[in-house]
Amino acid sequence: MSGRDTGSGQTVPDSFCHKNYPATSFCDCRSTEALAQTMTHLRITKDSAIPLLGSIYFGVVDRGTSLLQVRPGCGCNLNCPFCSVDAGPASTTRATSYEVEREYLVDYVRDIAQFKGDGVECHIDSPGEPMIYPEIAELISDLKSIQGVSAISLQTNGTLLNDHTIAALESAGLDRINLSLHALDPAIAQQLSGVPWFDIEKITDAARAVAASTIDLLIAPVYLPNINDAEIPKLIRFAQEIGAGKRFPPLGIQKFERYKYGRTPKGVKVQSWWQFYNRSLKPWEKEFDCKLIISPQDFGTERRSMLPKVFHKGEKVTVEIRAPGWIRSEQLGVARDRVVSVMGCLKTSGNLRVKIVSTKHGIYVAVPV
Ligand code: SF4
Repeated sequence: MSGRDTGSGQTVPDSFCHKNYPATSFCDCRSTEALAQTMTHLRITKDSAIPLLGSIYFGVVDRGTSLLQVRPGCGCNLNCPFCSVDAGPASTTRATSYEVEREYLVDYVRDIAQFKGDGVECHIDSPGEPMIYPEIAELISDLKSIQGVSAISLQTNGTLLNDHTIAALESAGLDRINLSLHALDPAIAQQLSGVPWFDIEKITDAARAVAASTIDLLIAPVYLPNINDAEIPKLIRFAQEIGAGKRFPPLGIQKFERYKYGRTPKGVKVQSWWQFYNRSLKPWEKEFDCKLIISPQDFGTERRSMLPKVFHKGEKVTVEIRAPGWIRSEQLGVARDRVVSVMGCLKTSGNLRVKIVSTKHGIYVAVPV
């Protein structure tokens, strides 16, 4: 098979490997250049023979509800110091970013939506910034036309939102934007973005424009105790003032958690879930007369059968290594039409015997045996 070196000693087929992001009106050149310099970029097409199920990094994640996480890629243009997945140009662990061919992704969602039945929400998120995906509006429009799909939502850090992109998302039929916005104070907001060019005024202007459009707005700050305590009340007030949450809740405040491959900012206090609900959310709910403790039911999400699992924990299987992993020392193998993330893997091609160590939500992780 002809191929090219990815920089990590791995050879992948030319058909799905390129190192440059296509320039589109949705792309911010500063961010894409930085990404291209620091990571290998893999384009996953139908021809790549890499399935779109089984990986947390790209494709479709089904957690047993009527909501499907649709992940077209995983690059990010920010370096948030609290990022749970160590994404962004300054990442110290990420080796690869992925971008899925639109038609390939839509075919997968179509099949899974049929299995799920009516009332499916496609939530476009990623371990990164989904707006970097060059065909985001076209993807939304395609997903919207799938029978059984009733809503499309998009997670974004807002840096690529402007009048032009908001209008395109609106005409594509986007129902909701979950905007990750963690502070209104310019210095704190910039510090929490991890990049010098972050412009809070541009983000708040975009938030106002979204709230005034047919797209519903949910503001989703991560609460970082000791860092943005004074900012959360300001964000609640801001969401109320601009008319966020017309169909869905206006705010989705997230609890900060430490993750193995994530980043932890200096000085942050990690709350227990009890503290988060009782010492933070409940008092703010009372102060602002605003529902902040939300559940999947607030978004019309129901329990639905999950796609059957194809491996069980502890099972030993042979996978074919087909692509580099997202983090260094990881490779992506394929077996039974699923991606298997093989951790601590030195082999970069060929068949490998592995032991499945995790199958949660149909995300398969294994180690070599
Ligand atoms: S928290 Fe989100 S926006 Fe920030 S670096 Fe991580 S993926 Fe990007």
